[in-house]
Amino acid sequence: MNDIDLMTKIVSLCKRRGFVFQSSEIYGGLKSSYDYGPLGVELKRNIAAAWWRSMVYERDDICGIDASIIMHPKVWETSGHVAGFSDPLVDCLNCKERFRGDKAPRLPVGSEVTFLKGGKSGAEKIKGTVKACGYVCPVCGSSELSDERQFNGMFRTSLGPVDPLDEFFREIKGKDLSEKEMRGLYEESLRRSLVYLRPETAQAMFVQFLNVQQSASMKVPFGIAQQGKSFRNEIVVEHFIFRSCEFEQMEMEFFVEPGTHQQWLKYWTDERMKWYRRYANQGENFRLRQHEATELAHYSDDCYDVEYLYPWGWGELEGIASRTDYDLKRHAAATGVKLSYFDQNKPDPETGKPGWRYVPYVIEPAAGLTRSVLAFLLDAYSEEHGVDASGQEKIRVVLKLHPSIAPVKAAVLPLVKKDGQPEKAAAIAKALREAGLNVACDEQQSIGKRYAKHDEIGTPFCITVDPETMQSDTVTVRYRDTAEQKRMSIADCVETVIASVRHPS
Ligand code: ATP
Repeated sequence: MNDIDLMTKIVSLCKRRGFVFQSSEIYGGLKSSYDYGPLGVELKRNIAAAWWRSMVYERDDICGIDASIIMHPKVWETSGHVAGFSDPLVDCLNCKERFRGDKAPRLPVGSEVTFLKGGKSGAEKIKGTVKACGYVCPVCGSSELSDERQFNGMFRTSLGPVDPLDEFFREIKGKDLSEKEMRGLYEESLRRSLVYLRPETAQAMFVQFLNVQQSASMKVPFGIAQQGKSFRNEIVVEHFIFRSCEFEQMEMEFFVEPGTHQQWLKYWTDERMKWYRRYANQGENFRLRQHEATELAHYSDDCYDVEYLYPWGWGELEGIASRTDYDLKRHAAATGVKLSYFDQNKPDPETGKPGWRYVPYVIEPAAGLTRSVLAFLLDAYSEEHGVDASGQEKIRVVLKLHPSIAPVKAAVLPLVKKDGQPEKAAAIAKALREAGLNVACDEQQSIGKRYAKHDEIGTPFCITVDPETMQSDTVTVRYRDTAEQKRMSIADCVETVIASVRHPS
């Protein structure tokens, strides 16, 4: 199976089995918007729960928040997003593709390139020379490109019952204005009600630093964790749910004493790699990559990406940045509120006197939840080739998701729809549901087809109720990854399933 095939198979499986659908599909779909179906919502929630468990429940130095998506617009001015959250937008003058200059294929300035006039389907070959930008069009390879324009990725909207456009037209009515003056008035009428959809969850953790620290009596080092939707008006959306405009993040800001930040960065890169590998089948497909100095954001003194080997190559799954004291200092300066911490047990390093007030440094592991859904699906997908009873070649598709993140933990399957078997199956399902597990009771189709469906959606166990069950209270348990079957008592079977969903340590 080549890598492009794998992606096509994942997208098709997602739709066929109900993991991910194109949003508004019956209206022709909306570019880059996706809906998580009955299985996708379970997988996404389970990954989020696994993260929350490791970040919040398993420790006493991190607590969670759930902040508004729409925050005060000044937050985004202070954080630097209004001025700087932009990507270089470039138009290809040959094929009309719009792309990000910083992600385009780089070539030495002055080198010669050949591309097809009008784009990939063109017939005439033309020559060009790579300009000072040092890249070419990612689609047709042309060097004929527009200049870069900075495009701000934040979604803007209006808060309150005002229509900035109405206000603008009222303002300009009867006035003879230049384009510049009109633009100024338009920006002004937008500004009065302007708010942004958050492009990251992180800023709320800085803005609520004091409230959380004081209300929960947290002592540095401590962290604030949050999961939720973020929005970026991406120039290029790509690879299914890898990059979309609406997505979900899992971020944690860990506040530490200045001078200890490098050791905490090391700690969090180790922790986060362990977390991914605990749930993965192929741990070697997750790696850490340190940022080059030229890649670092201006507020960051060191940063690592957790990367996954996607079908198109290594790409980001999570960023783990040492953000210094930049954010707290900026918000403190903008609001006049002292966003600092007083450690009464430590002497001030400057004066030597007891008690030290300082602005904590921050380590930020920032993961993509929706991107993790894709990575774990890719990691779990496997095909086993064999032959069926009639000698025909068959492929068994298995999603080897860790039981703790699998959408359905067990399927209870009566062999026939009579003789009390459906009722017995329902009783077993009830016992598992009472333990808090999402289980399926499935009576339709042949037992073979039901096994195949549950292999394909990653259900770790199929529990078959047959005539013997009615005599001896035993069932056959079929293990997804090996297709091995074992007969055991119903009590042992319930125990086996419950034990399997425990999170790996
Ligand atoms: P990229 O380089 O892929 O654009 P980024 O460095 O801008 O990502 P961060 O700002 O560090 O991303 O956000 C943290 C995480 O949020 C990313 O590692 C990724 O998993 C996720 N993420 C960011 N942008 C998107 C998006 N448009 N769609 C899906 N997930 C995203």
